[in-house]
Amino acid sequence: MTAAPNPSHAARVRTRFAPSPTGFIHLGNIRSALYPWAFARASQGDFILRIEDTDQERSTQAAVDVILEGMQWLGMEPDEGPFYQMQRMDRYKQVLAQLQASGHVYPCYMSVAELDALRERQMAAKEKPRYDGTWRPEPGKQLPPIPEGVQPVLRFKTPQGGTVAWDDKVKGRVEFSNDELDDLVIARPDGTPTYNFCVVVDDIDMDITHVIRGDDHVNNTPRQIHIFRALGKEPPVYAHLPTVLNEQGEKMSKRHGAKPVTWYRDAGFLPDAMVNYLARLGWSHGDDEIFSRAQFLAWFDLDHLGRSAAQFDEAKLRWVNAQHLKALSGDVLATLVQPFLVQRGIAATDLTDGRLPPLCELFKDRCDTLVALADWVRVFYAEVTPQEAERAQHVTPAIAPALDALAEALATCAWDKASIGAALKQVLAAHGLKMPQLAMPARVLVVGTAQTPSVDAVLELMGREKVVARLKSR
Ligand code: GLU
Repeated sequence: MTAAPNPSHAARVRTRFAPSPTGFIHLGNIRSALYPWAFARASQGDFILRIEDTDQERSTQAAVDVILEGMQWLGMEPDEGPFYQMQRMDRYKQVLAQLQASGHVYPCYMSVAELDALRERQMAAKEKPRYDGTWRPEPGKQLPPIPEGVQPVLRFKTPQGGTVAWDDKVKGRVEFSNDELDDLVIARPDGTPTYNFCVVVDDIDMDITHVIRGDDHVNNTPRQIHIFRALGKEPPVYAHLPTVLNEQGEKMSKRHGAKPVTWYRDAGFLPDAMVNYLARLGWSHGDDEIFSRAQFLAWFDLDHLGRSAAQFDEAKLRWVNAQHLKALSGDVLATLVQPFLVQRGIAATDLTDGRLPPLCELFKDRCDTLVALADWVRVFYAEVTPQEAERAQHVTPAIAPALDALAEALATCAWDKASIGAALKQVLAAHGLKMPQLAMPARVLVVGTAQTPSVDAVLELMGREKVVARLKSR
């Protein structure tokens, strides 16, 4: 028989993403949102967003906006929140008072100068610098006289001796010796609570069952577990995700040039492709590389999280995006590409003439982003400037008579792909040419480049008037 589940974990799954808005979140950060979101969805649970904005000097509204917009774009909307830690100060102070009353914290009057001197002595003796417990009350211990005019910090009374351990869903069993953990400051002299304490109060109040976060927090976890227990609660399940490295193999960070997540939205990446790509950056489902959002949510579990650092690879991301883009219909792509065309100066009203869906269908195979697609499609609604080198190569004096004949034939033929194809063939025969000799210059003049999908389809969608005028404008 298997052991009964821990009662506090038997309840509905509740996960959270708890970013600090101290810089624009990048793909490494948003991956730490993706897994708790997916786990909540896969378990019919709840996903909570908590903004950890207690570092008032470094937190900005612009960074909060990137978090909210990025999550909305990726379709990772929370069921609850955003909650802001700065709005919960009264609650933290209330819980601090509770810990004080139960004897789990004590005031420490050691000054910064004394702490520095202690650290220096420890370093000189080749010991790990740590608070030495001077102000920790113990039965029968005489505490130093309280200095006048000094506001104390509050320290947490870490259990002495023994170990603290948890079964991490990624790292397996992790154990710390309590003697490695000194008595953590949980309130500053002005009474404001510190980071590890706020996280625990929030995780308790928000009923979080699974904490899925970056492994830069592993060293905080034993401290947080002690605070949970001091508050009479069992800690949640932890999963500490390995780092995401950038293409140079460094930890992905803003300092190392990581782009904000919203950059990818503006660069024409598809939310489902991003979810697909990020999902694979630290989790796997067999060898599956390309999958839909629904498949990901059906498959996601904590048992297949990777243990080693994942490396971001933009070329791979582009490839994944291209696969998703190709799988969309012209109608869907038309809606998605529209804002990019408007941004490129095309009037929205011009885009309703019915050509956009077939154009998207025609060009989607050669595009890895919506921006690339917009760049192809825009010449069908705007002026075209043929690439000079291509013009010189293909639009030669020798081909001029055939181009004139083509313009003439296309001015009067029926306007559908088959008739356009027939007109082309008729000119080829009359001038003794092979298809590329005529199709290449025609493409350069009409679309601006010789590398396009089939010429009859392109000409048809460009429209008779523009085709005839562009063939003549040499
Ligand atoms: N605010 C922390 C960070 O951005 C995350 C804390 C947590 O997930 O427990 O790194």
